[in-house]
Amino acid sequence: MKSLWSDAEAEALVAHYAARGVGREVALCLYGSRLLGGDKRLVLHGGGNTSVKTVLPDLFGESAEVLCIKGSGRDLAALEPEGLPAVRLAPLRALRRRESLDDAEMVRLSRAALLDPGAPNISVEALLHAFLPHRFIDHTHSVAVLSLADQPDGAALCAEVIGRRVAVVPYVRPGLPLAKAAAEAFETGPDVEGLVLVKHGIVTFAEDAAEAYRRMIGLVTLAEERITRTRKSVFAVRALPSGIASVAESAPVLRGLCAIPDPATPGLYTRFVLDFRGGKAVRQFVDGADLERYGRAGVATPDHTIRTKNTPLIVPPPERGRLDAFAAEARAAVERYAADYRAYFARHNAASAVPKRELDPMPRVIIVPGLGLFGVGRSANDAAIAADIAESWVETVTGAEAIGRFESLSETELFAMEYWSLEQAKLGRAEEKPLAGQVALVTGGAGTIGFATATAMRAAGAETVLADLDGAAAEQAAARLDGPALGLACDVTDPASVRAAFDRATEHFGGVDIVVSNAGAALQGRIGEVEDAVLRKSFELNFFAHQSVAQNALRILTAQKTGGCLLFNVSKQAVSPGPNFGPYGLPKAATLALMRQYALEYGSAGIRANAVNADGIRGGLLTPEMIAARAASYGMTEAQYMGRNLLGHEVTAADVAQAFLSLALARSTTGAFLTVDGGNIAAAPR
Ligand code: ZN
Repeated sequence: MKSLWSDAEAEALVAHYAARGVGREVALCLYGSRLLGGDKRLVLHGGGNTSVKTVLPDLFGESAEVLCIKGSGRDLAALEPEGLPAVRLAPLRALRRRESLDDAEMVRLSRAALLDPGAPNISVEALLHAFLPHRFIDHTHSVAVLSLADQPDGAALCAEVIGRRVAVVPYVRPGLPLAKAAAEAFETGPDVEGLVLVKHGIVTFAEDAAEAYRRMIGLVTLAEERITRTRKSVFAVRALPSGIASVAESAPVLRGLCAIPDPATPGLYTRFVLDFRGGKAVRQFVDGADLERYGRAGVATPDHTIRTKNTPLIVPPPERGRLDAFAAEARAAVERYAADYRAYFARHNAASAVPKRELDPMPRVIIVPGLGLFGVGRSANDAAIAADIAESWVETVTGAEAIGRFESLSETELFAMEYWSLEQAKLGRAEEKPLAGQVALVTGGAGTIGFATATAMRAAGAETVLADLDGAAAEQAAARLDGPALGLACDVTDPASVRAAFDRATEHFGGVDIVVSNAGAALQGRIGEVEDAVLRKSFELNFFAHQSVAQNALRILTAQKTGGCLLFNVSKQAVSPGPNFGPYGLPKAATLALMRQYALEYGSAGIRANAVNADGIRGGLLTPEMIAARAASYGMTEAQYMGRNLLGHEVTAADVAQAFLSLALARSTTGAFLTVDGGNIAAAPR
């Protein structure tokens, strides 16, 4: 591992922050923090922490000796001065005399010592930084160091490899006990450059920011050299079926099995999103003959338990052409996992001084031999974090197994971390949105109505896929949404293209739940004279394409077995024909019937089918030229023409989007169509 420290860059950052009134030492700490945070071999997603001891004026203008320490759960890679709150050092240090300190009190005391009462909570490892005397302190969960430290003889191995440059601290629970143990270890060997925390990570310190950082890189490099020195292939390979089912086929099965039905409300589930990883290192790990041993051994460092739980779910390899057998075996594995989790909770909760609130029993990482691994989360972001941490864990375990045997913490320690209130607090308690955990796919997603619909689904918490004939436009539209949306090319009149789009959506998010079949175009012609070719083309786009989209949706919904929602953009033409719009209205009328057929035949599987009949949407099928020409032909202004309905105002794409959203949420409505036309009795259902 190479040092990336540049004095020129560091000084530039010092100058940048000086202009904002941020002191030199804090700016240097930020620079080092970002370098550490930028390397996923050192820290991931809010892991690790850094600090600097300095003197700052308090709110009353008095100088105070403070510890500026990373805020809890903040990312080192993007740390700003606000993420490094200042807390008075003397009261923190006085806590070393305490025998014990409960979580709530620790948070209260540290908040009382903050210079700025509005600052974020400080890192759960703040006391460790306070009790050590050094000006700059860096703490990471280095993969290479953990490969050494996560061994039955981890302490001895670290001492042998890193030698006298560090003091080795046996595993102690984070918080006051670890802070005391770390300070004592340092005091017995005050020449050391840092501390190895067995089964947890590494700390380096110095009077100078660059030196603390360089010591981190230097010590981690020693560990890296040791674990790669005699590297051959680490894992013996297990036997696998000759053909393995694809990610697109396997993911919906697993996603469906992990969804938790709401016991009180049929049709409602707590659903999860999946994030697949299948790189070379992951494949070697998941295809190993000894997977059952090392795969279930536990996490690499304690704070990972809140993201990945203590162990992954391991399912059998999915043999191509035998997905039913895979589904049955995977179901048994999920049921066993959930039962084991409940038993683990009950066992440790009974022994816990303060009763804990049980988390859901579903895995956050799924290992699939022959394929790779899935991160599992209530959102795509959470699934990606779980997958990132799982990949880092794979690297740690692989390094450990290369030189010995990976060993994690005891179950008691893992439970203490998973249910430590300060760790749980990092996950936040934001109110969940109604479509959280669901995936919505919208065809014609780059168009006015499609994009408005995707925006509404996203605002309600769904992960979104925008499929459009224009793939580049779909990608641009997806980038404009708030969150990790997927934009992809899809010609809805080509069944192979539709299938590929659904497969890509499934590879990306694990499946789909809501499909808005929206793509269409208004072909015109007087019905007695129109060429057959025009009518047939319109049937391809405005009827057969809806059938192709719905069939592919069914393929995935059926594999998930958790219901779902089909939504069709049908148009007012389906029930109230307009002159010259026969080629458009006829296939749309067939699509209205198609919706009812799906409602009839798949209601028993919890799959709902509904439609929206919209009319007069600017930017939908109405081009500016059409609006101008028609307004002129009626002798109206454009505004008068667009508001030509019972309510007297223009109907917008956002109105149509809200109608789709309300149907997606209406758990007891199927076979219905909803008009969004400002009121038009001729087009009203009767
Ligand atoms: Zn740590």
